Amino acid sequence: MTPNTMLVSVALPLPLAPLTYAVPDELVDRVAVGSRVVVPVGTRRTMGFVIGPAEAKAGMKLRSVLSAPDDAPAIDAALLKTCNWIADYYAAPLGVVLRSALPSALTGAAKPSPAAKTERHVEVKKQLESLVEREAAFKRAPKQRELYELVESLGGSASVDLLLERLNFTPAVLKALSDRGLLAIRRDVVQRDPFALRAGVADPRHSATPEQLAAITSLKAAAAGDVVLLHGVTGSGKTLVYLEWLKHVVRDQKRGAIVLVPEIALTPQTVDRFRAVFGDQVAVLHSTLSDGERFDAWTALRRGDKRIVVGARSAVFAPISDVGAIVVDEEHESSYKQNETPRYHAREVAIVRAREQGAVVVLGSATPSLESWVNAQSGKYRLVSLPDRVGGGRLPKVHVVDMRVKGKPPAKGSREALARIALSEQLEDALRARVQKKEQSILLLNRRGYASFVQCQQCGDVEACPNCSISLTLHRAPERLVCHYCRHTAELRDKCAQCGGELLRQRGLGTQQVEKILAEALPSARIARMDLDTTSGKWAHANILDKVASGETDILLGTQMIAKGLDFANVTLVGVVDADVGINLPDFRASERCFQLLSQVAGRAGRGPKGGEVIIQTRVPGHHAVKCAVTHDYHAFVKQELEGRKEPPYPPALRLLNVIFSGTREEDVVKFAMGAADKLDAHVAELEDVIVVGPAPCPVERIRNRWRWHLLVKSAKPASLTRIGRYFAERLKVPSRGGLRVVVDRDPSALL
Ligand code: ADP
Ligand code: ZN
Repeated sequence: MTPNTMLVSVALPLPLAPLTYAVPDELVDRVAVGSRVVVPVGTRRTMGFVIGPAEAKAGMKLRSVLSAPDDAPAIDAALLKTCNWIADYYAAPLGVVLRSALPSALTGAAKPSPAAKTERHVEVKKQLESLVEREAAFKRAPKQRELYELVESLGGSASVDLLLERLNFTPAVLKALSDRGLLAIRRDVVQRDPFALRAGVADPRHSATPEQLAAITSLKAAAAGDVVLLHGVTGSGKTLVYLEWLKHVVRDQKRGAIVLVPEIALTPQTVDRFRAVFGDQVAVLHSTLSDGERFDAWTALRRGDKRIVVGARSAVFAPISDVGAIVVDEEHESSYKQNETPRYHAREVAIVRAREQGAVVVLGSATPSLESWVNAQSGKYRLVSLPDRVGGGRLPKVHVVDMRVKGKPPAKGSREALARIALSEQLEDALRARVQKKEQSILLLNRRGYASFVQCQQCGDVEACPNCSISLTLHRAPERLVCHYCRHTAELRDKCAQCGGELLRQRGLGTQQVEKILAEALPSARIARMDLDTTSGKWAHANILDKVASGETDILLGTQMIAKGLDFANVTLVGVVDADVGINLPDFRASERCFQLLSQVAGRAGRGPKGGEVIIQTRVPGHHAVKCAVTHDYHAFVKQELEGRKEPPYPPALRLLNVIFSGTREEDVVKFAMGAADKLDAHVAELEDVIVVGPAPCPVERIRNRWRWHLLVKSAKPASLTRIGRYFAERLKVPSRGGLRVVVDRDPSALL
């Protein structure tokens, strides 16, 4: 090593600070800020990322970079800055953030450069001009003539796979033609793009309504770094607004665009709309893509062959050099928050990235998150509204079925009891009427209950924690009610404290159970079920929806995944089986999520000329999440909900940091959490405006054999939370027993 040796700082995908490495002379030209490098760490080799130059310190023992796979940096400067922000804000190692910003095919040290996919093509090499020539060439080889002429008729070239596998020619015939110099075989690199095979449905081109036009104009007028909240009711035509704006950005300004949609809304229906306008310019990043398909999409974007990406959360990292527009559709969706380190929120990352690259961000929703709404009110974001459905369509009429029991409850476990929980007479009659009229229905079953609760059958009351205004969770052995924020416990009562009615232990129904009840009640209905179990295959989701589109399904029953983005004119009824399960989750966002879900799913009804109707079954018809969904009144909901987040305070009144301690032995976890809380108290004494709640067991106390406790830190000062987050992630000593672990979750989307 000479004094001139180049030294670089390398971020590693490990819980370590960046390390310094020497760059061998022969690699100097291939190493720059943002480059991937294979480096030794201990006895292993790892893929790291160059984040800047470094200086030698006295006595430092330097190791060298082993290889540099790329000609040009994999991460550009703006994206690197964005990743730096993520690492700091969410208290995650920079190398881990950078790794998650790249397709997984690029993050392994063993095979740094993924293989491209090739395909063999055959093309006519020698033209046989005259008939005489042709007769002579193929006199004794009719099979060869057939194949040769087929290739001619296919325009002079064809895929070898197609000829051999689908048209049943033998390799021998092909080889003979190639040996004779009549056909040539070549190998082409092909792009793995599964959507290319799907016949694009042409989107009916509408011209924008005056309201849409006004929205488009104000998006075009936005300045670099602006964030616009597009608040448009379901069916107000937000997609057309995005498309027209993107045409301006991509075609006129020649810049790139990122469109984020929630994973479950990434249906072929959504993708088709973008492909109908931008064709091959669109890369789709779907979670079911193979590593190779993902890598190909990434490469096409980086080379500039494609300029637009439509994808879920991680598409916010797409390697587009000059991003001019970022759309975050259904911005309130919790799937934008990643559930593992780095626990970033794609909406926040989009805003930071846009600032770095001089892009404009549009957050679209019918039911914006309270955080975004408050930012729009304060002027931090600009607000653009589409208050009506396009074409004078009206929002569907919403009916509430009160499921509270009057009189004597049916015998436990009886068919009547189950039906009374899952399927009211009103809903059953409405479904039957649709089946008879050959119209379709969508039935929503709320997320499978994470937590059990106790509800009064007569007044619908659910007991809440006096300190935290959160539903108490039912525990067995011994049976008791527990607050999972502060550990307050209460005895289970015999009768409801409000009205003296019978109590019902609510444990949540499964989709299969409801499917069975439906099949018994409506034997002639064709029912399709859509939940995690039925949608695991790559096209399973699309296949179920295609059947709804073609009218082969009468009733589509499903979890949240059916609430988003579906647009079927023949769906005239939407039913919600159990609104209360969502409302009573022990989470401060439970009401907000429930309101959003009810509004979204109601938005699926009545999209066609026949109109539509929504039926919500609930035992809390007076709850504001239900009442405001019935009147489609977002503003009234927000007003009441914001009031409820003031005391005790929850976001957006302030911000949260959830610190989760876990391990295989309960007593270790409790001790660890208690000790960490004590240390935090000493730390917090110097910080202003920080409230610490807990430690307490997490609502879901055990996941995959690990016990979980948590500590909730609240503050209105982001900098204080950053400091505390970094303290837990970097400095807290984690004892090496019982698999103990600590996880820091900034701005948690749920506290389960
Ligand atoms: P949103 O996303 O706001 O719920 P969509 O973008 O799905 O609404 O639009 C709802 C429906 O209205 C779609 O079927 C769409 O084709 C149709 N639509 C949108 N804009 C217009 C327009 N200007 N004229 C006629 N129909 C439109
Ligand atoms: Zn409490």
